[in-house]
Amino acid sequence: MNIFTDNEAFRAIVESSIDAVVIINREGDIVFWNSAAELMFGYSETDVLGKYVHDILPTHDQREKADESFKKFQEVGTGPLVGKILQVKGLKKNGDIIDVQLSFNTVDIHGELFAYGFLRDISDMVARQENLEEQASIDGLTHTLNRRAFLEQSEKAFSFAKRHDSTLSVLMLDLDFFKEINDSFGHDAGDVALELFANKISSMLREEDLFGRIGGEEFCIVLPNSTVENSAIVAEKIRKEIEVQTISTAEKTLKISVSIGLSSLEEADSSIIEMQKRADSALYEAKRTGRNKVVVG
Ligand code: GH3
Ligand code: MG
Ligand code: MG
Repeated sequence: MNIFTDNEAFRAIVESSIDAVVIINREGDIVFWNSAAELMFGYSETDVLGKYVHDILPTHDQREKADESFKKFQEVGTGPLVGKILQVKGLKKNGDIIDVQLSFNTVDIHGELFAYGFLRDISDMVARQENLEEQASIDGLTHTLNRRAFLEQSEKAFSFAKRHDSTLSVLMLDLDFFKEINDSFGHDAGDVALELFANKISSMLREEDLFGRIGGEEFCIVLPNSTVENSAIVAEKIRKEIEVQTISTAEKTLKISVSIGLSSLEEADSSIIEMQKRADSALYEAKRTGRNKVVVG
């Protein structure tokens, strides 16, 4: 047998491919659907043959976009996705959404145009990747954003506030006499205090607020859509809440306090760094004038 002249042989190979193979005609109707596609999406061949592909595979929010680019493809017989490897979301028959790597191309068979895709479920890989990215942006001890991620995200929040002409505030926090805590109770107790401090504050913030550890016992909070008055209230609430916390270690109970500098977005600000500098000066003032207080810069 010569597999190069045997159509059945080619069909057998495509049919048994571990990648899902889906072929559509120029109308976008599914004309081929192999066993791996059945396994991946949960639809049998008879479920989908003759159905418009975008009624089946893309997630609902992607369908309009997929239709638009397919219409262009129908008009000219090619498009920006042809010959490309893409990462898309796929919708299974049971409603689950999967991450799919799709390599997409067209072929002319006896004057008739077909498009075909090789699809591979890469959900596990994407989840691992997202997990790594999350780990890379989270501080291990306090579970707040690390310095790099915080600066990146706070710069975005700044640009958003500028664009939408909305309010934005920055709180700079530094624990008071933390060296003494370490010296009196040990570095491990200091770590426990930092962890509890961060947990307490996290529980007081809104979903859209950013909270990051920018140095050893220095933290920064960005409050989007928050006026200077509201932010001062938030800062004072945090200060009070930390003041009344007691932190119990194996041997001792200790107390901590925090000083906070506050700045709010001003017309002339061109970067979050400027706001952070003002908040830093206010924090310095809070330290200089007695600690355990909020100063508005
Ligand atoms: P101040 O009120 O002026 O802020 O006094 P301070 O003692 O807190 O002074 P400063 O902020 O300069 O000192 C920070 C101290 O925090 C120094 C360091 O020993 C401690 N520290 C920094 N990072 C960590 C950490 O991850 N764990 C622990 N246990 N201590 C830390
Ligand atoms: Mg300190
Ligand atoms: Mg410090």
